[in-house]
Amino acid sequence: MNNEWWKKGTVYQIYPRSFNDTNGDGIGDIRGIIEKLDYLAKLGIDLVWLTPMYVSPQRDNGYDIADYFAIDPQYGTMADFEELLEEAHRRGLKIMMDMVVNHTSYQHHWFQEALKGKDNPYRDYYIWKDPAPDGGPPNNWLSKFSGSAWELDAASGQYYLHLYEVGMPDLNWENPNLQEEIYQMMAWWGEKGIDGFRLDVINNISKNLDFPNDSLATAQDDGRKFYVDGPHVHEYLHQMNRRVFEKYNLVTVGEMSSTTPEQCIKYTHPKREELSMVFNFHHMKVDYPNGKKWASAKYRLSDLKRVMSEWQLKMAAGGGWNALFWTNHDQPRALARFADDQIYREQSAKLLAIILFGLQGTTYIYQGEEIAMTDANFTDISQYDDAESRNAYKQMLADGMPETDALQNFA
Ligand code: CA
Repeated sequence: MNNEWWKKGTVYQIYPRSFNDTNGDGIGDIRGIIEKLDYLAKLGIDLVWLTPMYVSPQRDNGYDIADYFAIDPQYGTMADFEELLEEAHRRGLKIMMDMVVNHTSYQHHWFQEALKGKDNPYRDYYIWKDPAPDGGPPNNWLSKFSGSAWELDAASGQYYLHLYEVGMPDLNWENPNLQEEIYQMMAWWGEKGIDGFRLDVINNISKNLDFPNDSLATAQDDGRKFYVDGPHVHEYLHQMNRRVFEKYNLVTVGEMSSTTPEQCIKYTHPKREELSMVFNFHHMKVDYPNGKKWASAKYRLSDLKRVMSEWQLKMAAGGGWNALFWTNHDQPRALARFADDQIYREQSAKLLAIILFGLQGTTYIYQGEEIAMTDANFTDISQYDDAESRNAYKQMLADGMPETDALQNFA
């Protein structure tokens, strides 16, 4: 199984905008990544995962892609990217691109075409519904960035679905032309010589086509049971694997929100030919009181051990493969959450690293984790350049939380 080198590999996640700025504009850039390749090689990294650097209006820091084939000028040029790829390969480092195909930016030309009317050939690349009988949204699904998951397009009188930010319309994976365009675009990157894809919220791409209302009985009832690990998701991933991953020998990791070990065994079992490995987030939720991400609570060590043991044992028994992590760009750093970032900062960082490297799976390090970096601890919400955080903060103030308490949830 020499093509499964990644099972023993270590991945380093780079969030380009905050990694290394070489031209003094305050935004990290591709040249800054090239500058640190020797450092990453010395650190023993095998694969570098880059969060999105495509052209984007940056409403969600690049997870809203407007052009899949171009590098956003704030990070550099395609020539810079090609140089990065070459310089990485020269040092034995592989490059993994972040790929977002659950949604695009509203600025993507497919959506701009779709807005032109119901007869436009790109209309069906997105998910449109007529209003409910009362004129409101077609169902009660909630956006993960707060409010309804539906936005009215006044010109056509129909709503489009956005499970995330309003400027990020969900793609309609039922459309074979859309599938084809996505596979061709991914193959274009494969031809360029990249080594893998990290697939953003990939288990949300197949929706329940009846679009039923949710009960909203608990904090988790936001419609997700109708699109998480949806009816055709395994078919789509198998097809993607055959059309792209297998052809270019790409390593893949899927971001799996609200999933189960049973589903993740299916996603990653080599015989099924879907993905190499998956992230799950269950261990990230042990300090969310009542399932609320942006609320501070002390976690219980026994909860963390139970969740991690369950995933380790079930995935191993079923022949699946975990992507292991403590921290990423969507989370406050693990140091303060699960250990201590003050008196025992160094010891805590080593402890967390030992645990992660001792588990079965492929280890992911988030930039700065290797030097026990702490959270930013900003004193003003405007310093957090993140749509999810800002919306959550607004909601906390609306719910009557004092500003200082609300800010602490992001530290
Ligand atoms: Ca820069």
